[in-house]
Amino acid sequence: MKVHHAEIVISAVKPEQYPEDGYPEFALAGRSNVGKSSFINRMINRKSLARTSSKPGKTQTLNFYKIEDQLFFVDVPGYGYAKVSKSERAAWGRMIEQYITGRETLRAVLLIIDLRHDPTADDKMMYDFLKHYNIPCVVIATKADKIAKGKWERHKSNVKKQLDMVKGDPIIVFSSEKSLGVEQAWQEIEKRM
Ligand code: GDP
Repeated sequence: MKVHHAEIVISAVKPEQYPEDGYPEFALAGRSNVGKSSFINRMINRKSLARTSSKPGKTQTLNFYKIEDQLFFVDVPGYGYAKVSKSERAAWGRMIEQYITGRETLRAVLLIIDLRHDPTADDKMMYDFLKHYNIPCVVIATKADKIAKGKWERHKSNVKKQLDMVKGDPIIVFSSEKSLGVEQAWQEIEKRM
């Protein structure tokens, strides 16, 4: 998909605020600083619609981006930030669970991980959580430009194995910096619309 139009329509904290357009939704999840905002911006061809490196600890909201009057990207606050309090973590958990388990228009979660490293315990928990609720998941292994191309396949297999990914969930090698994997990511999204 070639995106010409994208806008943030709401930063929601509760279901009553979710948009009612009925468009298919794709949620973006990942640990803080993994490159989630950069992924969104790259996919929609914008420099900084999604804020990069936004400080955690602020109000945790689900940000709905309407794209081409066809679908929504739903940006989920990043997880795994050490300085977040227990109560904030719990509030985050409730918000995500409420959205993921109750949203009929949710088609898939794009889970952003770092291709260079083993998935974190939080990454694994998030993937298991999605599988528990039968939510399709597309894994985006980003920052691929930071390792040699010859290592991509090995790192990709490692991520697949460590997350214990199910058949039907794809993994895409991506780089926001080098604009790599964009077409493939859009294909996986369009398939699920
Ligand atoms: P977020 O907290 O998950 O939204 O992460 P950001 O998108 O703000 O990215 C965190 C940092 O990683 C920033 O310094 C980005 O410039 C950098 N970054 C994100 N994606 C890539 C990528 O594909 N390649 C490289 N080299 N750096 C990236």
